[in-house]
Amino acid sequence: MKTSVIGFPRIGTLRELKFASEKYFRKEISEEQLKETAKELRKTHWNMQKNAGIDFISSNDFSFYDTVLDTAVLLNIIPKRYKELDLSEIDTYFAMARGYQGEHGDVKALAMKKWFNTNYHYIVPETEDDTKIKLSGDKLWNEYAEADELGIKTKPMLTGAYTMLKLCRYTGNKSEKDYVGDIIAAYKELLQTCGKKQIAWVQFDEPALVLDMNDSDKALFHQIYDELLAVETDTKVLLQTYFGDIRDIYEEVIKMPFAGIGLDFIEGKQTCDLVSKYGFPKDKVLFAGVVNGKNIWKNHYDKTLKVLSGLREKGIDTVISTSCSLLHVPYTLENEEKLSKEYTAYFSFAKEKLVELSELGKLADSKNYAEYEIFEKNHKLFSGSRDCTNKDVRNRLSKVCESDYVRLPKRSERQKIQKEEFKLPKFPTTTIGSFPQTKDVKANRSAFKRGEKTEQEYVDFNKKKIAECVKWQEEIGIDVLVHGEYERNDMVEYFGESLGGFLFTQKAWVQSYGTRCVKPPIIWGDVYRNKPITVEWSVYAQSLTKKIMKGMLTGPVTILNWSFPREDISIKDSISQIALAIRDEVLDLEANGIKVIQIDEAALREKLPLRKTDWYKEYLDFAIPAFRLTHSGVKPETQIHTHMCYSEFTDIIPAIDDMDADVITFEASRSDLLILDSLRENNFETEVGPGVYDIHSPRVPSVEEITNVLKIMLTKIDSDKLWVNPDCGLKTRGMKESDASLRNMVCAAKKIREKA
Ligand code: GLN
Ligand code: ZN
Repeated sequence: MKTSVIGFPRIGTLRELKFASEKYFRKEISEEQLKETAKELRKTHWNMQKNAGIDFISSNDFSFYDTVLDTAVLLNIIPKRYKELDLSEIDTYFAMARGYQGEHGDVKALAMKKWFNTNYHYIVPETEDDTKIKLSGDKLWNEYAEADELGIKTKPMLTGAYTMLKLCRYTGNKSEKDYVGDIIAAYKELLQTCGKKQIAWVQFDEPALVLDMNDSDKALFHQIYDELLAVETDTKVLLQTYFGDIRDIYEEVIKMPFAGIGLDFIEGKQTCDLVSKYGFPKDKVLFAGVVNGKNIWKNHYDKTLKVLSGLREKGIDTVISTSCSLLHVPYTLENEEKLSKEYTAYFSFAKEKLVELSELGKLADSKNYAEYEIFEKNHKLFSGSRDCTNKDVRNRLSKVCESDYVRLPKRSERQKIQKEEFKLPKFPTTTIGSFPQTKDVKANRSAFKRGEKTEQEYVDFNKKKIAECVKWQEEIGIDVLVHGEYERNDMVEYFGESLGGFLFTQKAWVQSYGTRCVKPPIIWGDVYRNKPITVEWSVYAQSLTKKIMKGMLTGPVTILNWSFPREDISIKDSISQIALAIRDEVLDLEANGIKVIQIDEAALREKLPLRKTDWYKEYLDFAIPAFRLTHSGVKPETQIHTHMCYSEFTDIIPAIDDMDADVITFEASRSDLLILDSLRENNFETEVGPGVYDIHSPRVPSVEEITNVLKIMLTKIDSDKLWVNPDCGLKTRGMKESDASLRNMVCAAKKIREKA
């Protein structure tokens, strides 16, 4: 059987692309130098796949920022305000991705959203009424030619027309249907050009097919592909889906003349059943996504081979594929020097998954695969048991009862008590937690990790930073302070490191957005807290000020969602174990005099099942109670905050209110403020701090800008419930811009108070 990879990570094993891009942004290297790095990376990645024996290798999966943005540019979906900056092609691109503030003007970045149910973010394409969708740009062809020169025939990949239309934000009067004609014309031309260039296969990524589809969605899909598949071209079209099954349209899709269809057998719960029930035509190739592109556990060959032989028995022409792009897993285990073999034996990152694909290819072709050594080795791993159970944890969890999920008295009572207790001004100002992680902060941490600094020296340095941070906030005039999170590399990794049951990698970076990467921990076993984690830092910070110091924790749902989860116990059990560990920390903070505690659930929305019907029973019904379990034990006057990145929770507002936090802050500046209307309509009870400016971009918002945002917010939110804060933590920002932005924010809050 042949093998296929949907997409490969592009940031570089050692994050070469990140560092080159950042140097370019700082004007330390030229455009040519940046492009040279990119070219080297592409070459390395293609060769890696070729050497592993992969048959279908993608091109155009490389991106300087995001592949959806690349497709938007390819389709000329570039809002006027960016064109008008009159920058070079690449700088216009980066202006859309990151915003621009300089000699050429001042524009915000395009919106950014979570990519389906992953921790990757894509740039939301934006059409205006005079946007003319047409084929423009030559990235796709150039990268194909580049691989060709290396002797590798690739399948160019890009976001498909249907998913593009679904992801676009239509800012003018026109809507989706007004662009259908032009987008079809553009993809037609693309197919013709692919044909002329003798490109054998093109891969259209259509993950939007795994979402709920209604009749008009299906009609749109038909309209697009009935026309595209009628184009006379020698290029074959692979319809690539992932992140679920395509139950709403499977029956129709298999009747359409696609040369290949890619289905997800890992997350697609009904994929196998769909194939059994409706069959799969003999004249098409099924790209079977059986190697998990999202998790890092080794593939269970026996299970996978059974699926593959089932397909073969049905006479289906099958290619073994990853379940989605490998973008979501780290590069390779080869750089992990500290993890012992006992652990790594169970893991497989992108490069190792290439080996799995080709081994599966070999095994699938042989009748007696059980006799092969590669099979035998894999089989042993899965028939043995891992050392990962903790009896105390299991015991404690079994004793948790209904009342442990309920905090008393009810929130409206607590809000009164807390107003009395804190006597904060109207529209209190606060930040989300982290302050800039400047070079010295990172240097301190790495020196400590390398053993070049003693623990005392490390702690002293952080304490000095905390003191500066507290003084800085007092001077700016912020009401509820934070300690700055200098001791944290990452909001999840930091907690994972202090909890039992987690494993850590050294170089296992995964791209989150643009140049930002994260290193998710691996949940290896049952989770528990050994000793207090944040208490000392928070208590120290509180000792420096009369103002209120907010304790800062990461919530159980986010810890789980930003880790690589176990596959041997349920997500529900894993989340509950983590919730109990965080509960211990919450109670310790309270006992040590911390009166406001923020429990971040930055990623709560992230793992919401893609289909609405699954939302509650497969996720919210245990995720929300798990959050309550973390804070239900505190006193009425202790104020619990939570924070969520991204405000896309319009459709689950009751569930968010059900977390029973006293205050929630969330991202709002890079999305429209429609969420606020919905909060009102749902009688949302939690106090709210919708971010008043975007921290993902270095631009400084003016006082007027923030005042205006606050004015709009006040038309939608009760004045005794509004908090004033940035979108998210400031760790990726510089000192200067943070200082200017926060001063403007406080100034805007004061102005609004005068008027109220
Ligand atoms: N408290 C964290 C910080 O400020 C929250 C980060 C996040 O929401 N992503 O960095
Ligand atoms: Zn955030």
